Amino acid sequence: MNEVKVFLVGAGPGDPGLITRRGLDLLRSCDVVLYDRLVSPALLDEAPAEAERVFVGKDVGDLLMPQATIDALIIESARAGKRVVRLKGGDPFVFGRGADEAQALAAAGISFEIVPGVTSATAVPAYAGIPVTHSGVSSSFTVLTAHESATRADSAERWRSLATGAQTLVFLMGVGALEETVARLIEAGRDPNEPAAIIEWGTTPKQRTVVGTLESIAGAAREAQIKPPATTIVGPVIRLRAAMDWFESRPLFGRRVVVTRPKVDSRSMADALTILGADVIHVPILEIVDPPSWDELDGALKRLNDGAFEWVAFASAHAVAKTFERLGALGLDARAFAGSKVAAVGTATERALIDEGIRPDLVPVRFTAKELAASMGRGSGAVLLPRPLEAPRGIVDNLTAAGWDVVEVTAYDTRPAEVDPDAAARIAEGDFDIVTFLSPSAVDAFMDAFGSVSDEKLVACIGPSTAEAAKGRGLRVDIVPDEHTAEGLVAALLDAKPAR
Ligand code: SAH
Repeated sequence: MNEVKVFLVGAGPGDPGLITRRGLDLLRSCDVVLYDRLVSPALLDEAPAEAERVFVGKDVGDLLMPQATIDALIIESARAGKRVVRLKGGDPFVFGRGADEAQALAAAGISFEIVPGVTSATAVPAYAGIPVTHSGVSSSFTVLTAHESATRADSAERWRSLATGAQTLVFLMGVGALEETVARLIEAGRDPNEPAAIIEWGTTPKQRTVVGTLESIAGAAREAQIKPPATTIVGPVIRLRAAMDWFESRPLFGRRVVVTRPKVDSRSMADALTILGADVIHVPILEIVDPPSWDELDGALKRLNDGAFEWVAFASAHAVAKTFERLGALGLDARAFAGSKVAAVGTATERALIDEGIRPDLVPVRFTAKELAASMGRGSGAVLLPRPLEAPRGIVDNLTAAGWDVVEVTAYDTRPAEVDPDAAARIAEGDFDIVTFLSPSAVDAFMDAFGSVSDEKLVACIGPSTAEAAKGRGLRVDIVPDEHTAEGLVAALLDAKPAR
């Protein structure tokens, strides 16, 4: 059998979650991905790091990459023996020229697979709270292109059947030709007072919806400066939006939130923010690296195994991860903790320990250095504290003041990470509302990289030591949650009002 070399994959309308499972599997295992302009950048991150990423889209107004060139590129990659994903916005066969590409592949004798996608024709209205059909309101919908080429040459008869054939009309493309399209529809018998809506950047945090009537929608879109990509919908189903507008009404909808956490642990926070509607800007400003030497930690872990520590205190999931990495390297395991009690600061730290088979004896109610010392009480035994190379003094000072003999060892280091240029540009241009910091070192790395945060932005810090670091760098700190966890920080953002 001829091995499939090219996969024409629908990427969905914008929300990266709307790709199919088959599409994502293929994307994650391809050698080359050829993608269009409307494909979400987050999806491109799913391709293997070493995969070739080839942009074959165009900007509106720019010259289109000729279809023949795109076809040739796909065929060339396939002939070179590569696994090719041709990633197209929405569904590949809805106005996407996917069919042209399939024909070209067939003609070239290259086998292919089509992976349908969620089309913007139905998904974009759905994200605006508008179902394309509803019993009793609309039992049919027509999807058409409002491209000039279609409007100019078409016959009056075709327009009459389009205008009156279905209860719901959905237009893709043709924002510039909206006026003309609307005039044609009215001329062809569609009621000028019927509800109409236009949705820009649907299914993304930039989504905007303008509602009017067929007669007013073109003017309203112009006034609101609606630009492509936008989907227009006409019909009585639009009235349902009043009760069904679920997406734009989410609590953090459209708020642009900078997440500075290291990549390895930013996922859950970013996901939580996204579900609440935020436009998350990932700027993993730090990365976690090995310390200059393992001697300190290794030595301490051997002593731990001999029962030398009354307590081991972990203040981050990274400290847990590196500790267990070294235990393994030394041929030891969780039993090394048998003679000691274990404290964890923060739920993520607690989870990391549980994953390693250790149920912490103590998780302070409030995740601060003071609280840790207060819950451990007074004592004089040895406390092992695996920590980053440079750590705030709080935990050590508080424990020492309570009589404990704290043995600090370096378990990891952080260093400034390379920031994605698009994200960096958004920060530099002030294209965000809130910046979040989860550690003092993140504050320092961010300020070193970007210099300042203007007054109209909100600054959110996970806890007191991070807030201190931010104030030390001249920032006004607006938000510090009562619960010093990522979850607590996200919850606090819900109550935050814009600075201006
Ligand atoms: N194959 C695609 C459509 C390609 S034509 C699909 O099935 O969705 C491109 C047009 O789709 C755009 O001009 C716009 O009308 C619509 N479109 C694509 N993404 C969109 C989005 N995020 N929001 C609104 N409209 C979108």
